[in-house]
Amino acid sequence: MMAAAVKNFSVLAPSVILLVMAYLAIPHIAALSPPQHELALLSPYLLIAGGLILSFAFGRGRVFFVLLLLAGFYWLFRTYLQQGLSDFLPRVAFQFICLLIPFNITLLCHVRERGVLTVAGRLRLIFLIMQLAGVAWIIRYREDYAQVPLFFSRPFLPFPSIAVSPVPHAALLVAVIGFFLILYRVLVRRSPIDGGLLGALVAVVIACNTLQLDNYPLIFIAAAALILAVSVLQDSHNMAFRDDLTGLPSRRALNELMLALGRQYTIAMLDVDHFKNFNDTHGHDVGDQVLKMVAKKIGAVRGGGRPFRYGGEEFTIVFPRRKMAEVVPFLEEVRRAIAEYELSIRSKDRPKKAEEGKKRRRAGHGGDETVSVTISIGVAETNDSLRLADDVIKAADKALYRAKSKGRNQVSK
Ligand code: GH3
Ligand code: MG
Ligand code: MG
Repeated sequence: MMAAAVKNFSVLAPSVILLVMAYLAIPHIAALSPPQHELALLSPYLLIAGGLILSFAFGRGRVFFVLLLLAGFYWLFRTYLQQGLSDFLPRVAFQFICLLIPFNITLLCHVRERGVLTVAGRLRLIFLIMQLAGVAWIIRYREDYAQVPLFFSRPFLPFPSIAVSPVPHAALLVAVIGFFLILYRVLVRRSPIDGGLLGALVAVVIACNTLQLDNYPLIFIAAAALILAVSVLQDSHNMAFRDDLTGLPSRRALNELMLALGRQYTIAMLDVDHFKNFNDTHGHDVGDQVLKMVAKKIGAVRGGGRPFRYGGEEFTIVFPRRKMAEVVPFLEEVRRAIAEYELSIRSKDRPKKAEEGKKRRRAGHGGDETVSVTISIGVAETNDSLRLADDVIKAADKALYRAKSKGRNQVSK
């Protein structure tokens, strides 16, 4: 529970922190001298450019395209919208910005990452350009299409408090739906990019709603760009230090931790029993599913244990500042939780047709079966002869070997 909350927060933290900082920065922007203010007006472009370079270099097309939208938004803001929305062009352009940017952020959040200059990336760019062309067309031939913006900007939500907002109700609705769709995805998948897209969506909605207030759009568009850039960095960091299949920190992260350990700590090595056989019997995909389950149980270890995927079906838990005797009960808990867990899988002879499956289940032999695995654990702690982390790991590995030879599914010291 706790670990999940921390992970969710780490994905959303940059957004929350940068949005709060943006809000707090507003009075300071107003106090800037004119030349400084000129520079501040350029800051969204600089941040967007930085973000574009980063996301391009890391192949993060979804962020790249959202940054392009932000650049367009800020350019329109500086060129047309700042003077007010009474004319047709700024009004209609603004209404479409409010609608299309949250819409596209939500859409881009829900498609797979396919890079920038790839075929899929180019198609996405064309899709955005077509929207732009559509809006330009409506503005250009305003006599023929006057009904379209009128239709989109019709108020229909019954709350009087939002009547003051210049944002059309349809756009507010899209933004709120987009917010919850992305939030759900953040909570399920915990990807920093999704977290960044959520922050950018919120920042854009704030910028739209505060269009007429001094410095607000400037600050919140800049914040959106910064949030996205940070999410790209955070995502790349995760890729280097987190294991893709299980979501646990990787061996590389373990190596970093080992350099920072103090005098006293305990290390446990964990290995799935007879996993080769398991793969041969149930297939590699089911094997992967089991590894995810095992990793989840190991990740939930108590007693201050730091879990890692050491490689393959081997895991490591480091207990900084703990003695072996203190942590063995927590390791027993993990071992038992895994041994008792029954993972339901779709059996190989599962009938293709749902009807037949129902019949079979009613007759008693179900279409699904359950599988379970056990793990063996070896533990070692630092002492006078074991000072180096590498040596402690070796000692834990020997203990693991003893656990295996004594019959597996046990903790050995
Ligand atoms: P023991 O009880 O002695 O540990 O037996 P074992 O079969 O688990 O031992 P071994 O270390 O020889 O086998 C490890 C197997 O784990 C080999 C490989 O098929 C499987 N494995 C390693 N990494 C993965 C993975 O990422 N996914 C899946 N599905 N299998 C993996
Ligand atoms: Mg092994
Ligand atoms: Mg094994």
